[in-house]
Amino acid sequence: MSLDPSRAELAAMMTATTELTADFLAGLPAAPASRLTGAKPFDPPAEEPGEFAELLAVFREAAANAVDTAGPGYLAYFPAGGLISASIGEFLSTVVNRFTGVASTAPDLVALEDSVLDWLCREFALPATASGLITTGGSLATLSALVAARHDRLGQRHDRGTLYVTEHTHLSVAKAALIAGLRPDQVRVVPVTAEHRMDPAAAESLIAADRSVGKVPFLLVGTAGSTSTGTIDPLAELATIAARHGLWFHVDGAYGGGFQLTERGRVKLRGIEQADSITFDPHKTMFLPYGTGVLLVRDRATLRAAHTVDASYLQDLRRDPWPPDFCDLGPELTREFRGLRMWLPLHLHGVAAFRQALDEKLDLAAEVHRELSALSEVDVPVRPDLTVNVFRRKHGDDAANQRLLERINATERIFLSSTRLHERYLLRLCVLSHRTDAARVAEAIEIIRMLGRE
Ligand SMILES: *Cc1c(COP(=O)(O)O)cnc(C)c1O
Repeated sequence: MSLDPSRAELAAMMTATTELTADFLAGLPAAPASRLTGAKPFDPPAEEPGEFAELLAVFREAAANAVDTAGPGYLAYFPAGGLISASIGEFLSTVVNRFTGVASTAPDLVALEDSVLDWLCREFALPATASGLITTGGSLATLSALVAARHDRLGQRHDRGTLYVTEHTHLSVAKAALIAGLRPDQVRVVPVTAEHRMDPAAAESLIAADRSVGKVPFLLVGTAGSTSTGTIDPLAELATIAARHGLWFHVDGAYGGGFQLTERGRVKLRGIEQADSITFDPHKTMFLPYGTGVLLVRDRATLRAAHTVDASYLQDLRRDPWPPDFCDLGPELTREFRGLRMWLPLHLHGVAAFRQALDEKLDLAAEVHRELSALSEVDVPVRPDLTVNVFRRKHGDDAANQRLLERINATERIFLSSTRLHERYLLRLCVLSHRTDAARVAEAIEIIRMLGRE
């Protein structure tokens, strides 16, 4: 096939792609939640052209050797499913292949992407100066937040700066600090309460103690939905402490931030509106395909100040105050147009569809907590703030619990992960995919009830 297909060739490829997509979607409820064999080597590309149907078959088979992260039984880590409307948006974005690193080459597309970020800023009740950036994920959003915080609070002198996390803060914060050139001892770990939340009093005394010995505290990181248990730090109290001591307040809402779209979530996330920056992962809590993260900042100028470098070969590009030049807000220059994969689903399904789906996940997770707590065989040590439940066998050591996880996952109907709390192994069940319904949750509880008894 030539590099640009004919209309007939395009139609044939699209039809085959539609068939594969429809088969995949129809097969999801019955597909194994995980079925894995080892990786196999693939042939290098040949000089001669290939057959689209054959290549599609190779892809289909390779995709099947996997944990089915798109299916309703995926209850490990943070499931999202992946909305087809976002995939179609992604496809169309790459078809027109517009350059959206700066606004002047595709101003309406950049404005369209900015409208989604603006909407999110309003959902999080951030002020009119707020803005953001669609990244490839939470890790990149957090990296830019950390760099903006450092630039804003420390300028060019970083060596004595310190930032504050807990043992439950996601590894992406320590990784961002590492990439940004901070030493491990500049990342300070604040003790947590018995409920696994950052202890505000302990944070305040650590900040004061550090300052008294010449350190320069510049960043306090609160977590809105921790990875292990989905627990929310006391955000309002942390915001007050950060303000009192002149620290930038970042909220890692990669997982939990999306629940701001629900009424119950907004109550639990109170204080997030005071953040200087927020990480949020639509590829978790908005059911979008992997590769979609968001960074929101209270003041766009702080993000721009930390990420702008000029070069003479960019002199032809007009720079206006709006729409934003995304290249000035993050590490990338050339980037795919990420706006449509968010804009299209939001407008096509309507925002209420997302609010309702997330509300349903909160209900289902509460149901999991009720049902597991009623089982005599398991301990359920944490009441979920959001949609993560952890549990372990009442009788039996870590190895027995690990075996239980293996047996649960061997059913191929659900797939769970595990974590540790106070050195103890815990099984972990997170309801988050839009495809996980009440029936699958009931089945999960039945599987745990049966296998937990043995
Ligand atoms: C997933 C997650 C991250 C990292 O985001 P990626 O999109 O995987 O880069 C950071 N923090 C929390 C709390 C998360 O759940």
